[in-house]
Amino acid sequence: MKNKLHIVVTGERETTRSYVMSKHSLATTILASVSVVITLAFFTFMGLRHSQQYGEAQNKLAQARQQLQAAQERVERVDAIIAEQVAEKEAEFAAIVGDLQQKSEKREELLSSALGELKTKSEIVESILKTVGIKTTIKESSKNSGGPFTPLTQDSYEDLIFKLDHSLDIIKSVPLGTPVYGAITSLYGRRIDPINNEVAFHSGIDISKRTGTSIATTADGVVSEKGYNDGHGNYVVVDHGKGFRTRYFHMKKSLVKKGDRVKRGQVIGQVGSTGRSTGPHLHYEIHYNAKSVNPLKFVRIARNVPSAGK
Ligand SMILES: [Zn+2]
Repeated sequence: MKNKLHIVVTGERETTRSYVMSKHSLATTILASVSVVITLAFFTFMGLRHSQQYGEAQNKLAQARQQLQAAQERVERVDAIIAEQVAEKEAEFAAIVGDLQQKSEKREELLSSALGELKTKSEIVESILKTVGIKTTIKESSKNSGGPFTPLTQDSYEDLIFKLDHSLDIIKSVPLGTPVYGAITSLYGRRIDPINNEVAFHSGIDISKRTGTSIATTADGVVSEKGYNDGHGNYVVVDHGKGFRTRYFHMKKSLVKKGDRVKRGQVIGQVGSTGRSTGPHLHYEIHYNAKSVNPLKFVRIARNVPSAGK
């Protein structure tokens, strides 16, 4: 009976009960009870811990949501600012483009106007040369001889400049206008000679003017001859280059010497009646490539040339 325990329970009404239990069973029961208590305590602890962690996680999530919201708001604000600035820059850019376009149009207009003016002037110069029968054909330079001939038909600025330059280069040597303003008393060509009344070829024109009137040369050049003979009287020949020469006869006196460089309009002598002459006049000749040409169209050139702007 050593291994048995007697548990006596005394009631209020003096009822007494006695339980017999082996020591082993009691130990087992106590152990089981303690195990249950420990297990319960463990799970309770774990549950509490999880609950706490869940709460923390919820808090963190809420914070993160707030931060996200704030970030989104900031992004929206920045977007709005950027959109505003972009719109501003676009407006500025459009204004600049508009301004440039306007300037470009103005420039085009000016260029076009200048080109028109240049074309008119070029046409005047060409008409002068055409009137006096000078061809202004532009050939390739001698360095490129044999190359294709390219006619200048387009009205590009460079072409016009080139053409005008070429024409001006020629026109510098072309005797234009009259050396003396007076009545033309004898024309170029066949005529009855005023001295011997025979048919002869008159290689110039006679311009009647009183003795001593200034005679002006009709283009830039160099005095190539100066002298006196019975036929021409006092005479001067000016070489203008490009095949042009002018001759001035019957002068009272010449005011230049051989080799002098002269300018168009420069006085080279005075009207007289020296040599084979019937009265004071200038006998004026133009030679082109060593042949006399009719000076009349050169003398009257001003009347045949349209003025600029018309
Ligand atoms: Zn004559």
